[in-house]
Amino acid sequence: MKFRTITAAALLSVSAITPSAGGAGTIGAAGTVGAGVTPAAAPGTTAPGTWDWPLAPRPAVLRAFDPPDKPWLSGHRGVDLQAAADGGPVTAPESGTVSFVGVVVDRPVITIDHGNGLRSSFEPVESSLAAGAAVSKGDVVGTVVQGHCASLPCIHWGVRRGEEYLNPLSLVTDLRPSILLPVGGGGSG
Ligand SMILES: [Zn+2]
Repeated sequence: MKFRTITAAALLSVSAITPSAGGAGTIGAAGTVGAGVTPAAAPGTTAPGTWDWPLAPRPAVLRAFDPPDKPWLSGHRGVDLQAAADGGPVTAPESGTVSFVGVVVDRPVITIDHGNGLRSSFEPVESSLAAGAAVSKGDVVGTVVQGHCASLPCIHWGVRRGEEYLNPLSLVTDLRPSILLPVGGGGSG
């Protein structure tokens, strides 16, 4: 795959990560452990269940994570999330540093390096950011481009730890299936 060409860009990000990047310190979960907490050096928390959805409102999952048994087999190395509309905003699920913006084969891609070896890639997503740009959780990083899903606006979100693909949903905060949605509650049409 031509994704290999992306890895070179990751070199850029290593030196560009700024440990003091604002919002990182406001994330409470990892910081409340107590004694023995090392001085904050990570650009953001990468603990499971602490990331935000990259789309709002909370998107439907149009196609699940389905990694192949062998790296050379086909599969689905990420999730497809329904977007509200083509051209809508895509936000950073966690803080990090943009490591790649460009076209891979035929689709626009943005990759964010979250530190600790974790990288998110979104496609087809156009971005005006450049590699090396620092982003905070929730920042708009690009806009949805039509084309990945057959008829609905969507984005493909892939997460790698090193070269291993993870299920992005395992990192998202409100994945818990036990969440009770208000029935008949107003305003959430
Ligand atoms: Zn996909």
